[in-house]
Amino acid sequence: MSAPVSTKPVPVPDAASAPFFAGALAGRLMLLRCPDCGTFQSPTAYLGVPVRPRCLRCFAAPLEWAASSGQATLYSFVVMHQLYDEAFAAEIPYNIAVVETEEGVRLTSQVVDCARGELEIGMELEVVFEQLGDDVAIPKFRPRR
Ligand SMILES: [Zn+2]
Repeated sequence: MSAPVSTKPVPVPDAASAPFFAGALAGRLMLLRCPDCGTFQSPTAYLGVPVRPRCLRCFAAPLEWAASSGQATLYSFVVMHQLYDEAFAAEIPYNIAVVETEEGVRLTSQVVDCARGELEIGMELEVVFEQLGDDVAIPKFRPRR
């Protein structure tokens, strides 16, 4: 049985972001890590931004892919009431969240399985993956259990 097909915009993995999306399909949140200083960095892959080629701290290259623990805290969020895309009409109002992973990487995502009134800066979260069709999954976060 195949996954339900979303009408939402679906990211298209490319060669540079393939490890991120392969990890997501396997239930792992993949980040970039510097082989020299160990600093973790955002892949930004699922936002359509090119994967960074060098460490932002020490400029070493190439960066390597490494799995996050999947643990995070809520760094910031907004609640969207304005409809910008019909594909999201059924979800209004929904949140857009910036989470900070245990590795110190901030990602723009969404908190799911959480009532709007229960969103709180600093709350503990864990990664979950939303399947968008058969070939793509994206990370979201839910309150840690
Ligand atoms: Zn570095």
